[in-house]
Amino acid sequence: MTLHFPITTIPGPGETLEVAPGILWARLALPFRLNHVNVYFIEDDGGWAILDSGISNPETRAAWQALLDGPMAGQNFTRLIITHHHPDHIGNAGWLCEKLGIELQTSAGSFLSFLNLAQAPAALEFDPHTRFYARHGMSPEGSKLVSTLGLGYLRMISTPPVSYRRLRQGMELRIGGRSFQVLTGDGHSIEQVMLYAPSDNLFLAADQVIERISPNISVFASEPHANPLGDYLASLGQIRASVPEDALVLSGHHRPFGGLHRRCDELAEHHVERCDLIEQACAGAPKSTNDLVPVLFSGKLDAHETSFAFSEALAHANYMVEQGRLRWIEEADRLMLERV
Ligand SMILES: [Zn+2]
Repeated sequence: MTLHFPITTIPGPGETLEVAPGILWARLALPFRLNHVNVYFIEDDGGWAILDSGISNPETRAAWQALLDGPMAGQNFTRLIITHHHPDHIGNAGWLCEKLGIELQTSAGSFLSFLNLAQAPAALEFDPHTRFYARHGMSPEGSKLVSTLGLGYLRMISTPPVSYRRLRQGMELRIGGRSFQVLTGDGHSIEQVMLYAPSDNLFLAADQVIERISPNISVFASEPHANPLGDYLASLGQIRASVPEDALVLSGHHRPFGGLHRRCDELAEHHVERCDLIEQACAGAPKSTNDLVPVLFSGKLDAHETSFAFSEALAHANYMVEQGRLRWIEEADRLMLERV
């Protein structure tokens, strides 16, 4: 079984595309190699609910204006649902809620992380991150670059609204004539929100399951012993058990697709293969997390990509330490991974 793509066109800038009755898809540009994020309009009582908001920069706000003046002109908007706190999804949340006079609905994990990014600049301070990267084997120049330029995208957010409505795992969310089951999953972000509509077998998967790309699984300096890969694999299992294989999957990036269970299996297998590569790399001599970056990622990485690649390598390391396949040892102030 391979994935299939029932929708063959992609909405251009300032356009929407109906992907199911009363569900419109639009794409907003991103200033990264992953060059777009998907947002959706879901028909609601008396208007449209919006799902996700794009990164906060002048170009994206102009793109929103083009949608509001173009295909969505004259429409009412009822609420903004945000899947998770990464700036490509939550960036314009405050701006859109204010502009349209609508309520933000998201998980507690997403809202609190949004507040943290916006209101606790210490979370992004340069020094603790530099020490963290250096302890895991990065050069002084590399850790400086990654803790400044590499984390700059985390600041691409608007001022959060003061209040929100919480979405929780297991609750039923009515949007217009549809009833959605709310699922939340960890691993890519804390308590990422996904919505499943059994009535038309439609799954808004956010970044948890995407065609073509594997969502970034990261460990940051704020929680160095986190095991997001373990959380992510558990979430894939939960999605598989809750949503049928033949659901139409609408993700946060790339195309709508069918073949959800197949894709969950591919993503899980991808991480198993990466763990095997790490185990082989650590077989000869202990390796730092930074030594593992080229084992997992080929080609030249910019500062932003290096921050993702490093954090992803550490996520695999923490997972394998928890599994008992690797252990941490200290060598000249550096944390190294040794095969057990
Ligand atoms: Zn994303």
